[in-house]
Amino acid sequence: MNETKSTCPYCGTGCGLIIEHDGQRIFNVRGDPDHPANHGRLCTKGATLHLTVAPETAGLRTTLPQLRTGKNTARQTMAWPAALDHAAQRFAEVIRDHGADAVAFYISGQLLTEDYYVFNKLARGLVGTNNIDSNSRLCMSSAVMGYKLTLGADSVPCAYEDIDAADCLLIAGANTAYAHPIVFRRIEDARAARAGLKLIVVDPRRTDTAAAADLHLALQPGSDIALYQAMLHVLLQEKLVDRDYIHQHTEGFVALEAAAREMSPAVAAGICGLKASDIVTAARWFGAADSASLSLWCQGLNQSATGSHNSAALIQLHLATGKIGRPGCGPFSLTGQPNAMGGREAGAMATLLPGHRDLADADDRAEVARLWDIDALPDKPGLSAVELFDALGRGEIKALWIAGTNPAQSLPDSQRVQQALAACEFVVVQDIYQDTETTPYADLLLPAAGWGEKEGTVTNSERCISRVRAALPPPGQALPDWRIAADFALALGRYLGREEQAQRLFPYTCAEEVFNEHRETTRGRDLDIGGLSYGLLEQRGPQQWPFPVGATSGQVRLYGDGRFPTPNGRARFIVPVVEGVAEAPDARHPYQLNTGRLRDQWHGMSRTGNVPRLFSHAPEPQLDMHPDDMARHGLKNQDLVRVANPRGSFVAKARASEAMAPGQVFMPMHWGGRFMAGAGVNGVTLPRFDPLSRQPELKHCAVTLEKL
Ligand code: SF4
Repeated sequence: MNETKSTCPYCGTGCGLIIEHDGQRIFNVRGDPDHPANHGRLCTKGATLHLTVAPETAGLRTTLPQLRTGKNTARQTMAWPAALDHAAQRFAEVIRDHGADAVAFYISGQLLTEDYYVFNKLARGLVGTNNIDSNSRLCMSSAVMGYKLTLGADSVPCAYEDIDAADCLLIAGANTAYAHPIVFRRIEDARAARAGLKLIVVDPRRTDTAAAADLHLALQPGSDIALYQAMLHVLLQEKLVDRDYIHQHTEGFVALEAAAREMSPAVAAGICGLKASDIVTAARWFGAADSASLSLWCQGLNQSATGSHNSAALIQLHLATGKIGRPGCGPFSLTGQPNAMGGREAGAMATLLPGHRDLADADDRAEVARLWDIDALPDKPGLSAVELFDALGRGEIKALWIAGTNPAQSLPDSQRVQQALAACEFVVVQDIYQDTETTPYADLLLPAAGWGEKEGTVTNSERCISRVRAALPPPGQALPDWRIAADFALALGRYLGREEQAQRLFPYTCAEEVFNEHRETTRGRDLDIGGLSYGLLEQRGPQQWPFPVGATSGQVRLYGDGRFPTPNGRARFIVPVVEGVAEAPDARHPYQLNTGRLRDQWHGMSRTGNVPRLFSHAPEPQLDMHPDDMARHGLKNQDLVRVANPRGSFVAKARASEAMAPGQVFMPMHWGGRFMAGAGVNGVTLPRFDPLSRQPELKHCAVTLEKL
């Protein structure tokens, strides 16, 4: 039996694991006791990974390129060179006839940093378009903007060990017990070890996480900013803000203070649907002098049309109290996907560039052009996820490359996305599975290597870079994602008459060469990993960034010196705007639909849906409703109910749940139209997005219910 250390491909906790295999089959996985994220623990999803690559699932995999010559003909298998040649020819025709911005790439937080890097270079460096975005847009963009607005950079300042040192944990918009189970186990351990540790959970639902809290603030959807402003109001009233810290290390507090003084707990209680006394209690626990407070947040704040300000409002509580940059303190966004952070490091999103550079900054564009040895990068803003598929629907994008993601299921207003995909002239889908909601739209389906079959790196929520390693060869002719992108680039170079340039840009023979080039883009930046290498990661295990040349270890937490990566070194306060939800309920659509994760499923279930054991926790999609609402509709448990709004509808079984507030219903995000009657949950979700982060409000929309 062989053992290979690798990393879990599911959530951003980034647990290390040990793959037990014989080089042909994986028999088991177990937690890696040496990995700092999990110290040997795994949740149900991680512990069943070997079942996702069991021989019984082999028939589900893509193993050879498949091409169809017409929209109504079946795809036929073909060899790699011919498949990539065909794709290159089609992309080159579109670029020649309609310009580089008529093509786009939509990639994934499931990809490894090396994959991200090569796709990014392909889009911007060879094709000459910024139309590259990722499903990470649906995940962390608002947290990124929250950090940039206030702290000046997309750098998570905390580490998991801060959980152990905190006196107060504020979990906002996150069901950590389900979405980041190993983080939650650490929280449970911290509470067991420290009797005085207070846990506050902010969530409209009484989730398992909320049920464990000392204080559950079941706020109205969309009222987050009012809550955090009211907490600041209390901190000001009770002199719990740190005036010295504010004076020495920040700017802009006067305007924020004036706004917060207007938001008393009594006013916020009316907006949030909370007791004013609970808001006061939360503020006192958070702001207690000489104590450490850590906030953890996820999609409940991020997936909102005001997501950037939601995040900023929470981060500002830390700045106002000086509870940042020291043990047990700080704002800590929990990454949804395994490598959303690595994707941002590689800059493979419409608004970013490699090494935490910004597309909008001419100096940043020039630096990347110099690093890549090309004349210039395109400066026209790229399209973010929702915008990209809107442009597809309008016929402006004529060739689309999708890698490692399932947008026909996971984007909001999914039927509109499906129509756009159906109308697109040429769609390439690169995936490990044959049958997702998106693969029927693939004119060319390319087989990708999956977990356990490829090499690279990922970065988890605490800035920790871990190696991902191969234990098996990929099935059939499947290839690593970076390799497919690089091979396509070489073929495209020939069709664009830029063969020499393509060969110079994409010389890679292995993932390590890609990593080494990526590393060069980080030198001197906030995420400098100049001192890291595959060899060092092999020798010393996962490391947090920054890790510049000469460092002997990564940096556990940031901003301990009170200096921030803004032009004047000061953190910035902004005045967050209280707007509420983007789609308020009305007489025709009186219910507020909340979406979220289940404990044992992942995304659109392309992988976890193949493991029967993972359905024992929740065998089928159910709509959770308050018992009073059930009674109003004459519904009993297991009765079918249609959930609808003008965008679409789906049918699910109703289930009475005291976790729900009256007027609110909850549906897991995992089931798409393949598995349930109607359009799936994202048939009704809202594509409205935050103008700063461009992250859509997937968490909330208004619906009507009909008993069937
Ligand atoms: Fe994998 Fe996340 Fe579970 Fe860890 S907590 S084993 S990373 S799914």
